[in-house]
Amino acid sequence: MATATVPRRSAASELAALLESPEVADLIAELEATRWTGRPGYPIRSMVGMALAKSLYVLPTWTRTVRLVREHADLRLALGCPDPSGVPSIDACYRFTRKLRAFGDLLGECIDRVIAGLHAAHPDMGSDLAIDGSDLPAYANGQRYLSKNGPERERFSDPDASWGHRSAVSTRKGGGYYGYKVHAAVCAITGLPVAWTVETASAAETNYALPLLDAARGRGFKVKTAIMDKGYDNGPIHDGCMDRGVCPVTALRKTGRVLRGEHKPPTCDHGQWTFAGADFKRKATKWRCPTAECQPKSRWVKADRLHPLIPRETERSRKLYHSRGAVEREFGRLKHEWALLPLRVRGLERVRLHADLTILAKLACALAREREDIRRSA
Ligand SMILES: [Zn+2]
Repeated sequence: MATATVPRRSAASELAALLESPEVADLIAELEATRWTGRPGYPIRSMVGMALAKSLYVLPTWTRTVRLVREHADLRLALGCPDPSGVPSIDACYRFTRKLRAFGDLLGECIDRVIAGLHAAHPDMGSDLAIDGSDLPAYANGQRYLSKNGPERERFSDPDASWGHRSAVSTRKGGGYYGYKVHAAVCAITGLPVAWTVETASAAETNYALPLLDAARGRGFKVKTAIMDKGYDNGPIHDGCMDRGVCPVTALRKTGRVLRGEHKPPTCDHGQWTFAGADFKRKATKWRCPTAECQPKSRWVKADRLHPLIPRETERSRKLYHSRGAVEREFGRLKHEWALLPLRVRGLERVRLHADLTILAKLACALAREREDIRRSA
């Protein structure tokens, strides 16, 4: 495997800019105020820098991150440890992640600030959210037997991981896997994640759609549509979206009612009725007789998962559903370009921290580039 010692475009200067950004600088100041001095006294700024460098340089482990920084003069300068002997040790990195787990609130507030900065740059961010889950295979073996026909495994190296199912993508077929699942709401306009959670693989995706919407709304996004695949097409998610003022846009799950054709628009002797608008207050869509010969000429159909407020027949629904690709593309980028995978930590809390740090690095870079663009155009 090729090691990622060749950085992306000026990654060292990018890292320096991240550490100077007010959002991350505040995190450093707040962690310093907790009076924790990472033995043997590495500055917090260097430790936060190590964590960001790990994602920026697509490195799966602290070992490789420390090795890279020791060899890389520009990176050492960016982290404020110009001498190779001053680079934080691997042990110090592990201690720092323990510290970050203990002060998870401070990290969460830093993520909130970065997302708020991106929202300010893109006022329409978060209005259309694509929601999905994606597999994170564990750094552990989940096989029940130690070998074929051998004894049963008694101790699992990652007790929080579990067996789940992943759907097929272009390069591999679907099937079972052992580990975790990241559930995310991604802005379909900017392609940036606005809310996410990591859960054990066996937990059903459908449990997280509404909490992700709530998290996005809690961060100040005015969510108008939630775009999801057919796995999320059920009554409670539909109604939960509507209660939050959000139009669900999902593929149709082929249930018995669908096979009986109950999802179809009203029809009469003159043909299939046409969509004539939606009313969010009424939570209903209006349909018209194609020739206007029927009395009444139109009627309201109450919104439910078979008859969503944005009808599946409309071009708007098709376009929105097409933008669902944003969440899959973002999972791909996070996994392959930001080292969300392979997991090299075990346990739900550690995997969650890893995901938070990875996504923070990605979002903070997006914000820094946004500001750079503004400076250039000014
Ligand atoms: Zn008619």
